[in-house]
This record gives sequence, structure tokens and C-alpha cells, in this order.
Amino acid sequence: MSLQEEEKAEAGPSSASASGSSSSATASSVDTLPTQEALPSIPEEGGEGDGGDGRGPAKAWGRLFGLSPGFHNLDCINGEYSFGRDPSCDYVFQRSAELYQQSSKKHFRIIREEPGLGVGVAYLEDQSANGTFVNGTLIGKGKKTPLANGAEIALALPFHKVFFFCDLMSDQSMGFPPALKEKYVISKTLGTGACGEVKLAFERETCLKVAIKIINKKKCLLENDRPLNVETEVEILKKVDHPCLIKIKDFYEGEDFYIVLELMEGGELFYKVRRPAKLSEETCKLYFYQMLLAVQYLHQNGIIHRDLKLENILLSSPSEEKCLIKVSDFGQSKLLGESSLMQTLCGTPDYLAPEVLRFESGAKGGGYGRAVDAWSLGVILFICLSGYPPFSETPQKCLRDQICAGSFTFIQEIWDHVSQEALDLVRKLLEVDPIRRLTIQEALLHPWLQDEEMKRIFQELVSKAETAPNLLVKGRKRPRAEDELVGPTKARKLQQ
Ligand code: ADP
Repeated sequence: MSLQEEEKAEAGPSSASASGSSSSATASSVDTLPTQEALPSIPEEGGEGDGGDGRGPAKAWGRLFGLSPGFHNLDCINGEYSFGRDPSCDYVFQRSAELYQQSSKKHFRIIREEPGLGVGVAYLEDQSANGTFVNGTLIGKGKKTPLANGAEIALALPFHKVFFFCDLMSDQSMGFPPALKEKYVISKTLGTGACGEVKLAFERETCLKVAIKIINKKKCLLENDRPLNVETEVEILKKVDHPCLIKIKDFYEGEDFYIVLELMEGGELFYKVRRPAKLSEETCKLYFYQMLLAVQYLHQNGIIHRDLKLENILLSSPSEEKCLIKVSDFGQSKLLGESSLMQTLCGTPDYLAPEVLRFESGAKGGGYGRAVDAWSLGVILFICLSGYPPFSETPQKCLRDQICAGSFTFIQEIWDHVSQEALDLVRKLLEVDPIRRLTIQEALLHPWLQDEEMKRIFQELVSKAETAPNLLVKGRKRPRAEDELVGPTKARKLQQ
């Protein structure tokens, strides 16, 4: 029976307008997480009782987080739950739910089996001809699949995500500080960095999704000859307040360091720039404008990022190309006074400015300053516009020589599709002499960026983000390029 037929048979003709009013596709699960509902607290680990014998509350073995409007959270305590539109289901889909139209009377079941001592396995059994997807894979009517921690469940189409599954019995949060576990439910890994990994987590009270950056103390000490820069990273994160810079929510120290950050659902810019499906020039401009605003703000507050690269530019939306971006990872950043120059080599080789490389090889000059960030942004803009890196090791010329000479690989057929203005900005940022290189402020005044429509889109995105709690921390000011200018007094204060 088709969905429409099922719908009619079930509700009669009067339901036609209700079913027809279902809203359009969900833009992002960030927008749609139900936040009204307070979560029932998860019983303490090791607590007693089975919920039916009067010995205390039952222990939830799993939790489903609703990812779409109308799909509320569920703590799984019993051995089995059925899901669907049928009133006999344990979890009945609400008529008002956005993806109600895509659901069946009996859509799927979740079963927990206890094959051995305390070793429970959760399964999802697809009961619907419309299809149930787990992590993008169709399960198929009558078939079942193990449900691992972090699994995403979708109805009818892989992107119609309705639940995120957290296995509360898995040991994914072992070793985490109790205060962190009390406040957050830790879930899947989002990315890995130099010193650990970044995990998705949910704030228990609000259901907000966050990212937790775990800095593995042992790994960092073993692999880095430099001392841990966690304190500076956290200090900077606490100070910065700009819509294009990642904001910290919490910080914990235990076996490792745990930095709780606002979540960027779109992941790294790195994955968006590959040819042939590279970004349009318009989108590059929107993203680059935001990067410049972010770095301008940092420089005005006495902070040099020193590790700007595609992997550290995160996107707010996984689906919308026109979205907010945020600069992340202050692990290499430096707080410095007006006149100070840095003297340590850091950053990722492909994005390193010539003066950093020259300094490393013992050249005179006393160190390097803010201009290194402008160079790295030049490399990022080059890749965004062309889909390939300006400097890369070849048998003929090593990376260092190419960078120090500023001789980037120029493929005419590719750049034929890019405006002269954009190329001019790239050239002026990839200027070998740091004195002649454009500053961030000057880059913002470059003709390529004098685009009122692009700036309007940016302002609109910021306004939208103000109402999406996961994207902007409450109470943050709406930015304008001119608002971000801070005088020397504030800059000094931020440096203290
Ligand atoms: P490291 O400093 O150890 O290199 P990063 O801060 O660069 O770690 O994070 C590593 C990866 O984790 C990033 O490249 C990105 O894929 C992911 N990540 C980091 N922060 C967030 C975030 N706030 N939201 C979503 N993903 C993130």
C-alpha cells in the first residue's frame, strides 16, 4: 500500500489538508533538533534495578536523539521498541512531524539482545516497504542490522534522518572526566588532528550538538618536541568572539584535555575544493571574505593563527553551499605584542610563508609576524579558485624553493575561468616580501571583495545563525567588518 493510500485509509478524507501541509526538506539537523524538551537524565552507571521489580529505576542502554522536527528523543530501557504511524507502536510518529509523509504504519523495530554476560547488542529491523536507512544504507524489509553507537537512522531516503543512536553501554566515554560525562553524551568521531580526535557530543540538558576536541597528553608529548600549547589555545578560544571563529563552550582536564566547541556540521573546506566539482567563484568569495574578517579580528587582537589551511576552515552546513565558515584550531596560535616577531617554525609545509622557511634556514631578519597568515590565506584562495595547490614538491623543484621564489604552478586553462580581479588578489597575497604583501585589512579593500550582494548574503547568514543555537553562542553581537575594529586599548587588554 502506498503512503498516500495508507494515509487515506487510516485518517479518512478530512486529513488531506493536514498531510499536504508537510513542510519542505530539512536544511540542517542543527536547525531541527528539538530543544524544548528536557532530556530525562540517564541513570548513573552501575546503578541497580531493572525498572520492574521495585529495586530502583531501570538503566537506559541506548538513547535516540531526534534529528527532525516532531521526532522526540527516546531513552531505550526495554528489550524492544517498535516505530511507526500505527497507534500500537511503542513510538508513534506524530502527524505533525516533518517526515510523517515518509513513514509507514510499522516502519522499524529496535531490539536489544544480550548474548553474553552484560554484552548487549542492539539491532534495527526494517519493517517498511518505504525503506529504513542506517548510516545511508538501505536495510530492506524483513532484514536487520546491528546498531552501533553513532548510527543515523533515516526514513524512505538516506538523507531523511530522524534519529541519532547513542549506545550508552559502550565504553566510548571511558576515561572522560565525570563532570564532562555528566553534562555531555559522547558520540562518534568527527575528525582527527595532530594530538587526538574530535568527537560529536550532545549536551544532555539542551540536546545541543557540540564538538569535543580531545588532546591526548601522552601522544602530544611523545610526538611533539614543542611544549603543549593547550593553555594558549584555550585562552584564545575564550577570548575570541566573532561569527567566523570557533567558540569554546567548556574545557575539562583529566587524563587528557577536552575542549568543548560549537559544532560545525559541514566539516572541513578541504573536502569541498577538489576538482572537477570545485567551488564557484561566487562561493569562494563568500568564504574568503569570512576568512579575512576572522583573521582581521585575530590580528587586531594581537593573535597570529599560524596554521591557516583548508582543514582548519570549517563549514556550518553540510548541504547549503552558501553558508557560514569558521576558522578553527588555535593549537599553533600565538598571542603577541605589537612589535614582536615569532621565531619558531610551525604550520603546515604547503601553507608556510617564505619568511618562515628562510628563518628556519638561518637567514637574518629577526623572525616573522602577522604577514604569515596573509600568505597562508593566499594559498587557500589559490586552491579554492583553481582546485589545485600553488606549490607542490616536484622532481625538478622542491617545495621550499618554489615557496621562497614565489613561483606557483599556473595552469592557464584552469585560470581562464577565474576573474582577473581574483587572480590579482591571489598574486598580491602570494607576495614573497612580507613588507609588500597585502595585509588582511588591505585584502578586505581589494576590488574583488567590493561585492555588496556577497556582503548582504553574509549578513543574512549571520542573522539566521543567531536563531540557530548550535551555530552561534547566545548573546553574540552581530558582526560588521567595521564593528570588528578594536582600538589598541582593547587589543592590549586581550593580550593580558
Ligand atoms: P588538531 O589541532 O589536533 O589538528 P583540529 O582542531 O584541527 O585538531 O580538529 C581536527 C578535525 O576535527 C578537523 O579538521 C575537523 O575535521 C574536526 N573538527 C574540529 N573542530 C570541529 C568542530 N567544531 N565541528 C566539527 N568538526 C570539527
